[in-house]
Amino acid sequence: MNIHEYQAKQLFRDYGVAVAQGAVAKSAAEFDAALAQLPAGKIVVKSQIHAGGRGKGKFTNGFAGGVKIADNAAQAKELAGKMLGNILVTHQTGPAGRKVQTIYFTAASGIAKEYYLAVLLDRATSQPVIIASTEGGMDIEHVADHTPEKILRRYIDPAVGFSSHIGRDLGYQLGLGDEQVKQFGKLLEGVYKFFLEKDCAMVEINPLVVTPEGKVEALDAKVSFDDNALFRHPDIQALRDLNEEDPKEIEASKYNLNYIALDGNIACLVNGAGLAMATMDIIQYFGGKPANFLDVGGGANEEQVTAAFRIILSDPSVKGILVNIFGGIMKCDIIARGVIAAAKNVQLTVPLVVRLEGTNVQLGREILAQSGLAITAADSLSDAAKKIVAALK
Ligand code: GDP
Ligand code: MN
Repeated sequence: MNIHEYQAKQLFRDYGVAVAQGAVAKSAAEFDAALAQLPAGKIVVKSQIHAGGRGKGKFTNGFAGGVKIADNAAQAKELAGKMLGNILVTHQTGPAGRKVQTIYFTAASGIAKEYYLAVLLDRATSQPVIIASTEGGMDIEHVADHTPEKILRRYIDPAVGFSSHIGRDLGYQLGLGDEQVKQFGKLLEGVYKFFLEKDCAMVEINPLVVTPEGKVEALDAKVSFDDNALFRHPDIQALRDLNEEDPKEIEASKYNLNYIALDGNIACLVNGAGLAMATMDIIQYFGGKPANFLDVGGGANEEQVTAAFRIILSDPSVKGILVNIFGGIMKCDIIARGVIAAAKNVQLTVPLVVRLEGTNVQLGREILAQSGLAITAADSLSDAAKKIVAALK
């Protein structure tokens, strides 16, 4: 789960991580009250969406920049008016962009130098890793590609934990002065504690800055949480913004379906994550494009299968469906009945190819054949993929 920058910065404050003063507005009527909370001086106007690259982003109304610096409150209000309610496209949103529904005003900080700092989980070593770089404000993937030596990595053994010498060490390696190393160490300790206690998947600060006055401060905050640990954190769950999520994915989560929308036109309904991946691969292999990832789980019932069909068909780009089920825990005849009931229920209008394998497969195939529905049966995974790709041509 992702959260907005303004929410992440509030959590940072709770952990003693230095951030500038800020105020939130969700409608133009709230601009004045929000701006009144900030000290006089320059103000940063920040579009709140769950995507990076806002500064260099562009609105579909032609306005350039999802993050802008205003000289005063009056100008900040004008800039915010151009952002709120409009669609911001950044290199992370895809061409459709995201609607800005919240504006965050912050007191502008001066910048002497920008840095990059992140904490995330390294799957290869099964350890948290701190990533720091002097190349702040840039796209970190670009830095990694072109000047990998400028990226510092520090792995934290969870059995030993964080220790203040790590902050000092990294601070000096970044070329910070004595006073800034002290501040950086305290900030990093707070960020790391936050990462652990709240079960984050990633905390990214880009840029982390040293101001002309010598203060170390987080100017941006991108935080994502491990969904599997969210049950431990009702306070974090409360920060979820459904406006930022695909409505189909929200609906799927209500039925415990693992669904991820993609941009192809062949929907797939599969039991098991590995089989779902293989199904997407083989669709692609035979020249098709999957419209989604969908794992209905090992013990899906008729209600879930029906919900899955409904969600799949609510995507207007879907032109065909491939059902690929291995009957292990569930038996093929039961699955066949579920598929037929679901197909009747949602009034199927696109070609449907079904491949069943496993326990009671013969019975399952007979039930499908006798259903009277336009279901194409397939007897292997590649046969199924070929048939659905052909049906679309
Ligand atoms: P992103 O583009 O989505 O990563 O949004 P950021 O919050 O990182 O803002 C984009 C850029 O605006 C940053 O890289 C900074 O260069 C600049 N910026 C943001 N806040 C401030 C600020 O308080 N003062 C100054 N001078 N620049 C800022
Ligand atoms: Mn940033």
